[in-house]
Amino acid sequence: MSDFSGPGLYIHVPFCTHICPYCDFSVLTGDRAWQARYLQHLLMEIELLTDSGWPDRGPEPPRQPFDTIYFGGGTPSMLQPEHLESILEAVRARLPVRTDAWLFLEANPEDVTLATAATWRQMGFRTISLGVQSFASDNLAFLGRQHSPRIARRSLEVAIAAGFDTVAMDLIYGLPDQTPTDWQRDLDEALAAGPHHLSCYQLTVHPRTPFGFRRQRGELEEMGNDEQSDLFVLTHRHLQEAGLPGYEVSNFAAGPEHRSLHNQKYWSHTPYLGLGPSAHSFAGHHRWWNARKIKAWMAPLGEGRLPIESSEQLGLQSLVLESLMLGLRTYAGVDFDALPGGTGQGLWEENEAAIDRLVESGLATVEGSCLRPTLRGLAVADTLARSLDLGSLREEPR
Ligand code: SF4
Repeated sequence: MSDFSGPGLYIHVPFCTHICPYCDFSVLTGDRAWQARYLQHLLMEIELLTDSGWPDRGPEPPRQPFDTIYFGGGTPSMLQPEHLESILEAVRARLPVRTDAWLFLEANPEDVTLATAATWRQMGFRTISLGVQSFASDNLAFLGRQHSPRIARRSLEVAIAAGFDTVAMDLIYGLPDQTPTDWQRDLDEALAAGPHHLSCYQLTVHPRTPFGFRRQRGELEEMGNDEQSDLFVLTHRHLQEAGLPGYEVSNFAAGPEHRSLHNQKYWSHTPYLGLGPSAHSFAGHHRWWNARKIKAWMAPLGEGRLPIESSEQLGLQSLVLESLMLGLRTYAGVDFDALPGGTGQGLWEENEAAIDRLVESGLATVEGSCLRPTLRGLAVADTLARSLDLGSLREEPR
């Protein structure tokens, strides 16, 4: 496979037919007229970028062209194929994009038909990611999803038959009262459908969502940490045995060629540019993000300005902490020799005792300059990086 180490492009499509009660993304139930306005403004946003594809007065643009284009949301499969086509045309005409850039499309199962799948393939989409979430009707009803288990199965069959290089599926676990047997049944249904990639996310109840309000009123009780942790371990062991080994806390692939080329950029601090409401971008030490609400995103575009809401310049300490946190969520772990600013060797020496403790407690292993989480370590990945002391690093932005 060619080298996909260049920057990635993310396009946020903020529409859904129905808002799920656990969702905290920037989404709305927009009709065709809203979608047309969105498209018009997205094309303006693309037009306002410089020839390098990055904002003027932003960071030094990366030299390589974009090699992934990811349509996420929201529900990108709700957009008319002509709309997706116009976005791709504008991106290719205006931004440096490799001719063999890998195209990703997130789709809801109910949008996948023989006709739509064939059209998306013809447009060059190589990965389709289906928001299945569960194969159990009661779980789908609880999660407020609009499709049935039958439609979920059918969407998988159609996507596989359409010849996408990677057919990926999202599932959610850790629902209240879900037993390991229930979850394993869901996983087995997913495996029977033959996807190349699975993302299994633990249900998170965010404040200011319908689930968050139900929790506040005492009507929804989240699964306890021990039960969550048991399901996490079950997921990784079961999928490993079934031939879809994990490569990140929530991601599993039938082979390295099916791992998400786009999402791996987020985990390795590879530059990425995000377009559309709420989209985030990153390059070098610089992170910036667009206005979250669609109207706040459209308003500056209407005045000929990019809809950037805010930005931050990361200091060395923040950058290294992020590298550790992101790396320790992956099976590959963190190579200290590759840490930003050549800080790895010094950090390793300063944290020798802490690293020994992680190894002795069975949370990580050491191989050369790499610190790798074990399965038990992955279950508490976010605390691993925080157990290391980065106090000697300067925080000032560089
Ligand atoms: S389909 Fe996804 S993005 Fe849309 S409301 Fe549901 S969880 Fe949110």
